[in-house]
Amino acid sequence: MPSSTSFERPVLILYVGGTIGMVETSRGLAPGADFSHRLRTALATLSPACLASLPDFVVRESAHPIDSSSATPHDWQRLGSEIAAALPEHAGVVVLHGTDTLTWSASSLAFQLQGLDRPVVVTGAMHPLGMDGSDALHNVALALRFAAKPALQEVAVAFGGRLLRGVRSRKMAGREAFASPHYPLLGEQIGDDAVLFPTQGPSTLPPDAGRFELADYAAAAAGSVVRIALWPGIQPWHVAAWLDDRRVQGALLEVWGGGNAPEEPRLLDALARASNDGKLLAAISQCPAGSVALGRYAAGMGLAEAGVLSGDAMTPEAAYTKLVHLLAMPLDDGERRRRFLTSLAGER
Ligand code: ASP
Repeated sequence: MPSSTSFERPVLILYVGGTIGMVETSRGLAPGADFSHRLRTALATLSPACLASLPDFVVRESAHPIDSSSATPHDWQRLGSEIAAALPEHAGVVVLHGTDTLTWSASSLAFQLQGLDRPVVVTGAMHPLGMDGSDALHNVALALRFAAKPALQEVAVAFGGRLLRGVRSRKMAGREAFASPHYPLLGEQIGDDAVLFPTQGPSTLPPDAGRFELADYAAAAAGSVVRIALWPGIQPWHVAAWLDDRRVQGALLEVWGGGNAPEEPRLLDALARASNDGKLLAAISQCPAGSVALGRYAAGMGLAEAGVLSGDAMTPEAAYTKLVHLLAMPLDDGERRRRFLTSLAGER
């Protein structure tokens, strides 16, 4: 085990699945057993200096690690509760997660764990641990170093030498794999050091972002929040087919450019009908690094008039998991709308 640092409590590593712990099977890569042992064996191959720079840690692996492409809001809820329960005994938590939906889990955790007073760092790998040239060990070591920094008090993504705000992160491509188009880096690896940029820390979060909110995501896991991306030619009946269903309680609309939608009265009617029924609707831009200001164009005014909330420059992951979270909380409609428009975890 790596030598311990000045922190008395160890960092908890939670392995929930993903390529990082996968092995080859006859059907392709799939989560493998005995991850803790494999991780410790792999870490032992690091240089003594590198090992000595890691904090003390313990590893806990999920009984059923998954490919994160199968993750649901149930998994977000389970993970949030497990971390909340484990935090008092640990200096920080590292979550080892599949990269496919890593940013979704990180965003959801940010809303469930508002008011964090220590690090929760999510990472994974593009190649399995133990494979030649794998990025797994680098990412684990980076995440461990950041997870031992008391000054980091939020959910972050550590990957490819960089640290990003979790609720601002998106999966891109290549070895770095993740980026936060609308937010600066929280930190970076320099040599064997993980350097936190102080000005980008939790002080930028609103002072009233105060407490854990562990809500029941069963309705979301059963499909109560939908995601609708516009395409040229989208029909009112397409939108109505989703929104008129009484099981649907919220929708994330991915609209054009700066916040525009077709000026088609029946389509806007379908949105207004849903809003008037108390469904929570929000819009973000389809542009990968876009931002919406509903009503700047006449083509966007209809959305605002239909009661659609502006998602500003939120990522799809942040906006969607925020809708899930607010709908799961015991709030009235006005408070849900107010909170959606407020930054709760540095997401907007
Ligand atoms: N399919 C994998 C997962 O998300 C991909 C990865 O981990 O890179 O679990």
